[in-house]
Amino acid sequence: MTRRPEESFKTTCSYCGVGCGMVVKKDRKGNITVEGDKDHPVNKGMLCSKGMNLHYAMQDRSDRLLYPEMRYSRSHPYQRVSWDQALERAAAVFKSITQTYGPDSVGFYVSGQCLTEEYYIANKLVKGFLGTNNIDTNSRLCMSSAVAGYAKTLGEDSVPVSYEDIELADCFLIAGANPAWCHPILFRRIEAHKQANPDVKLIVVDPRRTQTCAMADLHLQITPGTDIYLYNAIARVLIENGEVDYDFITKHTEDFEKYRDAVFLYTVEEAALNCDVSVNDIRLAASYIAASKGFLTLWAMGLNQSVIGVNKNIALISLNLITGHIGKPGSGPFSLTGQPNAMGGREVGGLATMLAAHRSYANPAHRKEVAEFWGVPSLSEKPGLTATQMIEALERGELKAIWIICTNPLVSLPDARRVEAALKKARFVVVQDISRKSDTLEFADLILPAAGHFEKEGTMTNSERRISYLNKVMDAPGEALPDVEILCRFANQMGFDGFKYISTGDIFEEHARLTKNTNLDISGLTYQHLKEEGTVQWPVPQRGHKGTPRLFSDHQFFTPSRKAKFHALDNPQNLSEPVTSDLPLILTTGRIRDQWHTMTKTGKVNKLRQHIDRPFIEIHPHDALLRNINDGDIVEVDNFRGSVRVSAKVTDDIKKGVVFLPMHWGKILQNDLARANNLTSNLVDPTSKEPDFKFAAVEVRKYEKA
Ligand code: SF4
Repeated sequence: MTRRPEESFKTTCSYCGVGCGMVVKKDRKGNITVEGDKDHPVNKGMLCSKGMNLHYAMQDRSDRLLYPEMRYSRSHPYQRVSWDQALERAAAVFKSITQTYGPDSVGFYVSGQCLTEEYYIANKLVKGFLGTNNIDTNSRLCMSSAVAGYAKTLGEDSVPVSYEDIELADCFLIAGANPAWCHPILFRRIEAHKQANPDVKLIVVDPRRTQTCAMADLHLQITPGTDIYLYNAIARVLIENGEVDYDFITKHTEDFEKYRDAVFLYTVEEAALNCDVSVNDIRLAASYIAASKGFLTLWAMGLNQSVIGVNKNIALISLNLITGHIGKPGSGPFSLTGQPNAMGGREVGGLATMLAAHRSYANPAHRKEVAEFWGVPSLSEKPGLTATQMIEALERGELKAIWIICTNPLVSLPDARRVEAALKKARFVVVQDISRKSDTLEFADLILPAAGHFEKEGTMTNSERRISYLNKVMDAPGEALPDVEILCRFANQMGFDGFKYISTGDIFEEHARLTKNTNLDISGLTYQHLKEEGTVQWPVPQRGHKGTPRLFSDHQFFTPSRKAKFHALDNPQNLSEPVTSDLPLILTTGRIRDQWHTMTKTGKVNKLRQHIDRPFIEIHPHDALLRNINDGDIVEVDNFRGSVRVSAKVTDDIKKGVVFLPMHWGKILQNDLARANNLTSNLVDPTSKEPDFKFAAVEVRKYEKA
């Protein structure tokens, strides 16, 4: 028998949006291990607990889907079928439904874990050829408020900064994020910088005292939903003290006066009362910002997953604008992405409300440009359905078929019972995934086995706009295929032109050509460049270009006037569902250190399960005492949408009146009553349509067995 030589491959971690580089080593027997890539600019050899155990998740194939399966009705068992049979059926059903009810009767729900090429092909297929904008992504659930916040203030969805700005900043404001657990390698860079420079200030805004607060100079433990009061109050102090950059404001922004008038509608004392923090702490935060030479604001779901998420983003970004802390070293607003390729999805127009390269479906010139590029007569001008709108359309019977790729909406979408009912009503559900441990499979009429992260090549873009090439490390098991191949085969089966690619690199180059002359122009980029030169930050407009670590260095923004735009946030009120005497506690949901999303990968790794092995709820000692709840008691959390039954963790890390549930567990990995989204609200931000995961009214009771 020929012995295979040892091999090593460069790739990028498949979990969070930090985008750490890793080297995968494959021994002679084909076993793999991972280590941090010492040459990678993001992590410089470091990996967090999830990343350093990724090889266990990738190598354990016990739960993998190995061949296509389908059932002719929900009462029939699944049968194994060939790829040809599976895709013939999919094409026959999609043709029949779209011919009878029109193109908007079908939808695709994809994922921030899809590689850029997969995202691109899915969008080309749906928007270009199926003739509907009904393709949305689970990134809708985590960063669409940031996308809209950037667009409203800076003119386009553009993260202006780089990780290298961390080491150049001397004041950090981290809001609604726990990077110590959820973006650990990025946080390690902040930690190391602060340890080496004791004058560096860290302000954390969070209703929970998280691990990120451990080294904070100031923790503003606000009441959930009061963020805009806080940022407006900080702005008011800075304006009153003359600690704003009027030169920058005058030359490079517009509508400052309207913003200032709105900020002055509430006194600092009123804001402090609303947020439940002290006036002194608001003034202290302002003084840290005023004294800083480099001011970075970082945020994640605490701002985005809100019914007022876009305005929260605008309020925070405005602090960078009034102080002129943007477009210069160590300064700027920096939204953190939770998924490895949420940013790549934004590049290809992977949301129902976007077209490729930040073009808008609502702009006729943009539609024409993209239609001509794809060689189709036109694109639909009708807005596509967003994630939660697809569920509503399924409920109403308007959406008949849905194709779900690489995501587990039964655990991750809000108001999970409603999602179940909606999927039950669908005429045809395709689930394309790698794992049998997805709760969503229960509703599939057709199951398509996909290749995993190490089993295909492609590209991803991390939180700082850095594009990396991922090598294929190993073959997929059974008959599983890369997502891009499944989608192209389906498109060919539908009889669409334009999906016969020779290689994945050709898809990347087509996507890159479509970005030409846009603000994210990567038309100079090829696989060859990425393989030879390593990762690069967009824009990369010509061959040989070294990439762009920082946007807006010339203070020319992407608005028509080239000026950044202020907005009058004159109503800072939270619009979440109100707490009541029956449901007096605010539920906020989030993540734990060693699990990721719905645990279909991290849940397989013993070492990771040992950190926290079961779902729990954090409750303040005062609220626990009122309810006769002791630490470790089993409690029931209820509202009119559903229930959760978990053990209580009594801790003053959580604010009084607020309870916290991790979102990871679902039916397959625990039980039906472990799912936080049984309780979450289906209210969404009116602009971004991002759900209000951080605020639901609930009551908690000690569970007494009947
Ligand atoms: Fe992976 Fe994120 Fe951890 Fe880096 S910080 S190793 S990208 S999970």
